[in-house]
Amino acid sequence: MNMFSMIHLVKNSLREYMLDSYNLLFPNVCIHCNTILLYQEKHLCTKCRFSLPKTHYHLLKDNPLEQKFVYEPRVRGASAFLHYHKGGVAQRLIHTLKYKDEPEIGTLMGKLYAPELLEANWPVELIVPVPLHRSKLKKRGFNQSEKFGEGLSEIMEVPMDAELVRRVKRTSTQTRKSKVERWQNTQDIYQVTQPQKIAGKSILVVDDVLTTGATAGQLVSELILRQAASVYIATIAAGK
Ligand SMILES: [Zn+2]
Repeated sequence: MNMFSMIHLVKNSLREYMLDSYNLLFPNVCIHCNTILLYQEKHLCTKCRFSLPKTHYHLLKDNPLEQKFVYEPRVRGASAFLHYHKGGVAQRLIHTLKYKDEPEIGTLMGKLYAPELLEANWPVELIVPVPLHRSKLKKRGFNQSEKFGEGLSEIMEVPMDAELVRRVKRTSTQTRKSKVERWQNTQDIYQVTQPQKIAGKSILVVDDVLTTGATAGQLVSELILRQAASVYIATIAAGK
């Protein structure tokens, strides 16, 4: 063994030792049940990972998510990976992803959902994440929907373009506004930067949570206005 590989070996062992000691002092715990995670587990313990509240909506025609987009015939499919309940694992995952600086959770959710979503045989050609307004992006440092899209893109082998759509308007708070004002407030939130990349394509819109469908719906309308052939929607979770 030469001097260089010797130093390398010592350096690596020292690093591992320090990592182990760190993990002993501050063990990684499961986001949901607080069990100490095993070496190969990440964010969720194996038990919680196997008991995720999956919707299986991608296999269910006219599922509750698709029903939110019945007004738009070019929406050909919509699904969410998980059911969103107050205090449930999906809420915990999304909260940690967004507010505790854990972008990997988004990617992990995409990678876990992708093999299932492939079963639906959606003929999607391009993934478009719901964009954040630049001020929010600056504050958070990443777009959680884009992270979810990254995981999906890798496994599904469908390209993603996170620069195609910009959020040009921040929505101010909806309460205390009249119906008309509220409607105006959600107009022109998104701007497509290169419409030629949308025209004639089958697009998969990805978002973190879908509740009313209003935000994703605005993006969908914009894509259809730009001649998207069909639109599919996939989210990490969906509320009732
Ligand atoms: Zn757990």
